[in-house]
Amino acid sequence: MDDVKEKSDTYHKGFKFRLYPTNEQAIQFNKTIGCCRYSFNLALKKQKEKDFLWWITEEMFQNGQLLSNEWKGPRFSANASMKDHTQFKKTTPWLKEVDSTAIQNAIQYLGEAYDSYYKKEKGRPKFKSKKNAIQSYTSKCNYNKGVGTIRIVDENYIILPKVGKVRFAKSKEIDGKIINATVRRTPSGKYFVSVLCEVKKEFTQLSMFETGIDVGLKDFATLSDGTVIHNPKHFYGLEEKLKKEQRILSRRIVGSQNWHKQKKKVAKVHEKIANAREDFLQKLSTMLVHENQVISIEDIRVKNLLKNGNLAKAISDVSWSEFRRMVTYKCKWYGKTLVVVGSNYASSQLCNKCKYKNKAVKDLAVREWECPNCRTTHDRDHNAAKNILAEGLRILSEMDEAV
Ligand SMILES: [Zn+2]
Repeated sequence: MDDVKEKSDTYHKGFKFRLYPTNEQAIQFNKTIGCCRYSFNLALKKQKEKDFLWWITEEMFQNGQLLSNEWKGPRFSANASMKDHTQFKKTTPWLKEVDSTAIQNAIQYLGEAYDSYYKKEKGRPKFKSKKNAIQSYTSKCNYNKGVGTIRIVDENYIILPKVGKVRFAKSKEIDGKIINATVRRTPSGKYFVSVLCEVKKEFTQLSMFETGIDVGLKDFATLSDGTVIHNPKHFYGLEEKLKKEQRILSRRIVGSQNWHKQKKKVAKVHEKIANAREDFLQKLSTMLVHENQVISIEDIRVKNLLKNGNLAKAISDVSWSEFRRMVTYKCKWYGKTLVVVGSNYASSQLCNKCKYKNKAVKDLAVREWECPNCRTTHDRDHNAAKNILAEGLRILSEMDEAV
């Protein structure tokens, strides 16, 4: 039983990054991709020869030349093929120049392809071609005294077997134990790495708290308990910087050297904003999911994002959909409930006390209002968040009744 528990306490998570290899490293990547393709195709060719003997016997049996087809065609076995390959490698020195776990993985992959073929889930495995759009290989991470053969060093370098220290764009933190890394070359000659990790699920206590979240423009969000979540201050600084750099770009002659230089600068600020946003949203979503058992949010469709000239608005829209994505998967991980309230629900117009609908609260400028019916004074966003929570709980109770 412990075993099962152990397994369900972890999950796999992939992290993808752009790689910036030196020329030598790129050559090694290409070599490894080539050797993996070669080994895969060789193992496949050998199996096809075996299958062919079966076909000949079958043909003779069908023609009446044999009484039965006694020829037992061996199924493809990745383990046997791997042993075979180890022998072959002894006489083929160039195969030793690349990471052996990558070749093992290619043969293992062929084994999986054959398994699906035998189960009639997929067609017969095909030869890999140099012309395939996706050219990749996967290295396994082996551990020796806790040190992995694949690991992150010096902030933005990744150590890969037989390649060494490769620079990469670290757009997010990697957490968990590294299992393997897949290096991909795109048709345009860019390199990416996907690092697969085993992550331990953190234990979270059942919580008695519930929260409704109202997202805003001025502040990132207001919670139903009245907490206001501000956008990090440095966002504004970065926005200003982006505007400035974009202004400079618009004055450059398109295609000129200075224009290219400036374009890079703009891209850098964009990247900085994206990183700061990711960091803020990760922390916020984790905190909210840990603290609450039920989270209720409004279904806001992100539209006209690019048409909208308002930068702050654009950024907050992106943040919101990203935030929603994070809360969704974290609720799944930690066994919490997320309810999405319909987008036409008038959360800001309803009085959360008496449910009177105050149509006067339409303009975003109305920050505070008094209910004409019960005379309660409301903060616009706080009132909306309370309504979103109430509506979320109502939807949940309806679902309970349906079951
Ligand atoms: Zn009221």
